Amino acid sequence: MRPPGSPTEHPRRTLAALGLSPRKALGQNFLADRNVAGKIVALARSFPPPFLEIGPGLGALTSPLADAGAPVVAVEIDRGLAAHLRARLASAGVEILEADFLAVPEREWRSRFPVGGTVVGNLPYSISSPVVLRLIELRVRFPRAVLMLQREVVERLCAGPGGKEYGILSVYLGVLAETRREFVVRRACFHPAPDVDSAVMSVRFVGEYPEALVAALRTVVRAAFAHRRKTLRNASVPFLPGGSAQWRELLRAAGIDPAGRAEDVPPAAYLALARAFAGM
Ligand code: SAM
Repeated sequence: MRPPGSPTEHPRRTLAALGLSPRKALGQNFLADRNVAGKIVALARSFPPPFLEIGPGLGALTSPLADAGAPVVAVEIDRGLAAHLRARLASAGVEILEADFLAVPEREWRSRFPVGGTVVGNLPYSISSPVVLRLIELRVRFPRAVLMLQREVVERLCAGPGGKEYGILSVYLGVLAETRREFVVRRACFHPAPDVDSAVMSVRFVGEYPEALVAALRTVVRAAFAHRRKTLRNASVPFLPGGSAQWRELLRAAGIDPAGRAEDVPPAAYLALARAFAGM
């Protein structure tokens, strides 16, 4: 008989054998399609090991990643799932960390990934933005990521200027990374099936930007997008001692039309604005 949780078993059966049920609050929609898991793992393996998996769940991605012989550290917040995976995958070279990914300090990743690594994750919807922001902070340690998220979220993260999908996170990633929407995964591929489809994206952080410049980018982009419908010249800029007049000067210095709107400004122009603001 196969042990509960073998890669060929449907998540419904594994959960039943373990006496667990999916926890909605933790975004537990388990991937039940082995072909999709194989595609995601193949994509992840096109980037360098070792791997950090966020939210391994029942191990749909963890097992095939580990089968490839690559070291894997998987961080799972759910105690029952973490215990199950630890028992099942310890001998496969997988280290299970029972923790909230968002609360793991950088020094932990430094010691576990001294030469860096690649992130893989089928992420819970409710924490997708905080996870992406955290990955931006950790970009030097983890310069590559393969992420499955709600399809609409992937569209937003990969969006270019000129539409309502383009927002703060699209700008950050547009400046700091190359992103690619890889493929769509239908809702029927999960147990339980969510209300929406998912998509897989890859992220390659590129370039070296000092933290002070990234902080300046955050400040100007948040100000620009705080009121999307207003023209840029009317943004609220309490962080500037010279107020609106200084803001308009900075916009002009960056080649941005103060009569334009936040969603029409390309990432490179926001970077120029951040440089003008930070004097860098
Ligand atoms: N990777 C598995 C798969 O593809 O079937 C599970 C994906 S499920 C969408 C998300 C997983 O992330 C769940 O196992 C959930 O318990 C875990 N999770 C939720 N919030 C987390 C957090 N803050 N830190 C780590 N894991 C988390």
